[in-house]
Amino acid sequence: MGVDTTATLDRARAGDARALGRLLSLVEDGSPQLRSVIKDLLPLTGQARVIGLTGAPGVGKSTTVSALVGAFRAAGRRVAVLAVDPTSPFTGGALLGDRVRMQDHATDDQVFIRSMATRGHLGGLAAAAPQAIRVLDAAGFEVILVETVGVGQAEVAVAALADSVVVLLAPGLGDAIQAAKAGILEVADLFVVNKADKPDSHQVVRDLRTMIALGHHEPGDWKPPVISAVATGGLRDAGIVELEHALDAHWTWLRSSGELERRRRERAREEITALVFATLRHRLAASNVDVLASRVADGTLNPFDAAEELIAEHVRSR
Ligand code: GDP
Repeated sequence: MGVDTTATLDRARAGDARALGRLLSLVEDGSPQLRSVIKDLLPLTGQARVIGLTGAPGVGKSTTVSALVGAFRAAGRRVAVLAVDPTSPFTGGALLGDRVRMQDHATDDQVFIRSMATRGHLGGLAAAAPQAIRVLDAAGFEVILVETVGVGQAEVAVAALADSVVVLLAPGLGDAIQAAKAGILEVADLFVVNKADKPDSHQVVRDLRTMIALGHHEPGDWKPPVISAVATGGLRDAGIVELEHALDAHWTWLRSSGELERRRRERAREEITALVFATLRHRLAASNVDVLASRVADGTLNPFDAAEELIAEHVRSR
């Protein structure tokens, strides 16, 4: 069944969470309607700040996101949270449903929280998450927090989605050396050392500052701040308001330095590339590749010519 996009989008912009949920389901399901939906809402996008939060499981991402939502709400902003798992794009329903920890904001209609899976989506999360962000942007959220769920290289993947990347560490979980190995020092715009109520958090802060100092920073470059936080500690004196202010400062820098445009162009490029590959893979599956494969296998056709033949036949077809 089709969705009346214009009416649904109008309702979503007016704060109707169910209408918004319906649009996000189109993204999640990789609906054929998605293309026209995105086309319709494109003129309404570009206003939101996209903030990615990442770090090893257990560092306190969820808790920090919930606290940060509180800080942005106190500043009067509409906030959306998208929880995504970049490492397992086809997990189905595992991530669906609002997370219990986010229920601090369940009664606030200016806060929207959604976990996202991309079951069967053309191009997986790399192609789907940017569309979900567009939908939330068009729906009028000023701040979109993208929280990664999951393990492994999830840390780096979120950088491809966000204007500002917050990397969380905590004593005993994802220390500075592990972070360096995973390549996340380079993608972080801000560091949060969470669980500052634990004694060894000072060591994490010290190690991190040493590593940042080793990096090369030109004058005018953004130097990632290291913020100690107790995400479970409420808003006052727990580093969360400081994080919000540091994010505001980063946003100002992004705009004044030209870095925002650069990052958004780079993201658009990644997005187009993901869609091209996904489309090609899809068309390849529907092509005469098996016939060609038999000829390559029995030695009557070389694989280079087979590849050329497929590209010639399918790249331009619709
Ligand atoms: P995530 O897996 O990164 O999303 O981590 P969670 O937000 O679920 O937090 C993991 C655990 O750490 C939970 O039991 C939280 O209550 C706890 N936690 C989060 N922040 C803090 C903190 O600042 N101090 C302490 N002591 N525990 C925290």
